[in-house]
Amino acid sequence: MLAVRDDRWFVKCNECPVRMDVAPARMPKEHIRMPSGWIDLGDRAHVCPQCAPRWTETLRGRPGLATRIRPRD
Ligand SMILES: [Zn+2]
Repeated sequence: MLAVRDDRWFVKCNECPVRMDVAPARMPKEHIRMPSGWIDLGDRAHVCPQCAPRWTETLRGRPGLATRIRPRD
Protein backbone atom coordinates (compact mmCIF):
# COMPACT_ATOMS: atom_id res chain seq x y z
CA MET A 1 0.00 0.00 0.00
CA LEU A 2 0.97 3.64 -0.43
CA ALA A 3 0.99 5.81 2.68
CA VAL A 4 2.46 9.02 4.05
CA ARG A 5 4.63 8.82 7.13
CA ASP A 6 7.04 11.44 8.50
CA ASP A 7 6.52 13.67 5.45
CA ARG A 8 7.46 10.94 3.01
CA TRP A 9 5.47 8.66 0.75
CA PHE A 10 6.14 5.02 1.49
CA VAL A 11 5.12 2.00 -0.48
CA LYS A 12 4.68 -1.10 1.64
CA CYS A 13 4.66 -4.68 0.44
CA ASN A 14 1.37 -6.52 0.81
CA GLU A 15 3.13 -9.81 1.45
CA CYS A 16 6.04 -9.02 3.75
CA PRO A 17 7.27 -6.20 6.03
CA VAL A 18 9.37 -4.54 3.33
CA ARG A 19 8.64 -0.88 2.72
CA MET A 20 10.36 1.75 0.64
CA ASP A 21 10.54 5.53 0.74
CA VAL A 22 9.36 6.68 -2.69
CA ALA A 23 8.79 10.43 -2.58
CA PRO A 24 8.36 13.54 -0.44
CA ALA A 25 4.84 13.82 0.99
CA ARG A 26 4.23 17.04 -0.97
CA MET A 27 4.46 15.10 -4.23
CA PRO A 28 0.99 14.61 -5.72
CA LYS A 29 0.01 10.98 -5.47
CA GLU A 30 -0.53 10.69 -9.23
CA HIS A 31 3.11 11.67 -9.84
CA ILE A 32 4.56 8.91 -7.73
CA ARG A 33 6.37 6.22 -9.67
CA MET A 34 6.71 2.70 -8.37
CA PRO A 35 10.34 1.79 -7.67
CA SER A 36 11.64 -0.72 -10.18
CA GLY A 37 10.56 -4.28 -9.46
CA TRP A 38 7.51 -3.32 -7.44
CA ILE A 39 4.09 -4.32 -8.76
CA ASP A 40 0.91 -2.34 -8.25
CA LEU A 41 -1.84 -4.92 -7.83
CA GLY A 42 -4.55 -2.30 -7.80
CA ASP A 43 -6.89 -1.67 -4.91
CA ARG A 44 -3.97 -0.04 -3.05
CA ALA A 45 -2.04 -3.31 -2.89
CA HIS A 46 1.61 -3.52 -3.88
CA VAL A 47 4.25 -6.22 -3.73
CA CYS A 48 8.01 -5.80 -3.46
CA PRO A 49 10.59 -7.25 -5.91
CA GLN A 50 11.20 -10.20 -3.59
CA CYS A 51 7.52 -11.13 -3.56
CA ALA A 52 6.76 -10.14 -7.16
CA PRO A 53 7.83 -13.48 -8.71
CA ARG A 54 5.07 -15.23 -6.78
CA TRP A 55 2.58 -12.88 -8.43
CA THR A 56 3.78 -13.01 -12.02
CA GLU A 57 1.93 -16.26 -12.72
CA THR A 58 -1.27 -14.89 -11.20
CA LEU A 59 -0.99 -11.70 -13.19
CA ARG A 60 -0.38 -13.58 -16.41
CA GLY A 61 -3.77 -15.23 -15.98
CA ARG A 62 -5.46 -11.96 -15.13
CA PRO A 63 -4.35 -9.28 -17.58
CA GLY A 64 -5.24 -5.83 -16.38
CA LEU A 65 -4.96 -6.70 -12.71
CA ALA A 66 -1.60 -4.99 -12.40
CA THR A 67 -1.96 -1.32 -13.17
CA ARG A 68 0.13 1.76 -12.90
CA ILE A 69 -0.51 4.17 -10.08
CA ARG A 70 -3.35 6.45 -11.03
CA PRO A 71 -5.38 9.12 -9.26
CA ARG A 72 -8.08 7.58 -7.14
CA ASP A 73 -10.77 9.84 -5.77
ZN1 LIG B 1 7.43 -8.38 -0.15
